[in-house]
Amino acid sequence: MQDNYRREIDYLRVSVIDRCNLRCFYCMPEAGVELKGCNDILRYEELYKIIKAATELGISKVRLTGGEPLVRKESLLK
Ligand code: SF4
Repeated sequence: MQDNYRREIDYLRVSVIDRCNLRCFYCMPEAGVELKGCNDILRYEELYKIIKAATELGISKVRLTGGEPLVRKESLLK
């Protein structure tokens, strides 16, 4: 898989939640962000399907990120 500049795409960054209890200026604007409801974000099973499909297209590195993944209702690190 390549981008429009013929660079190989082998890296996927997955945001598991839009919430975070910190307010880093480069990520969270002062006015805040419109948060999604629990039913509007992907379930873990859906994330898994997307990541699996991406690996079949050549993705070899996946980074789970947020917001803050640990504030997700069912944290990945239980
Ligand atoms: S998600 Fe990361 S960068 Fe954004 S406010 Fe939280 S800690 Fe800061």
